[in-house]
Parts: sequence; C-alpha cells; structure tokens
Amino acid sequence: MAYQINKNVCVGCGACASNCPVAAINQKEDKYDIDFNTCVSCGACVGSCPVNAIEQQ
Ligand code: SF4
Ligand code: SF4
Repeated sequence: MAYQINKNVCVGCGACASNCPVAAINQKEDKYDIDFNTCVSCGACVGSCPVNAIEQQ
C-alpha cells in the first residue's frame, strides 16, 4: 500500500503534514508531497485532508 497526494486537488493547507507521525509529508513548492521512503502507510493523513487529495495507490 502506498499513499499519494493528488497535486491537482491539494490546496497546500499543510494539515496532512501535521498529522503524519513519521514526518513523511513535506512542503514542495505550493503543495505537499509524501516521501515514500519514510511513509509507513498508517493512513492517518487521509482523514486530515479537507479536500480528499490523498489517495491510496
Ligand atoms: S500514510 Fe501515515 S506515514 Fe504515510 S504520509 Fe500518511 S500519515 Fe504519514
Ligand atoms: S491536507 Fe490535503 S490539501 Fe492540505 S496539504 Fe495535505 S494533501 Fe494538500
């Protein structure tokens, strides 16, 4: 399982980054990006996104 942020949907609010227990989400330009090498696929970020931009692959 892997999680990915749809950059076409993300509004760059940063809520997901605050909810990630392993700090796998980092700001990239005006959006946010998940570092697959750090992400432990816990799913905590999904529910924190107000626009449902985080998708499970
Ligand atoms: S699935 Fe969990 S570990 Fe991965 S980016 Fe989301 S909150 Fe962080
Ligand atoms: S919570 Fe959603 S909209 Fe906000 S930065 Fe994360 S992916 Fe983007």
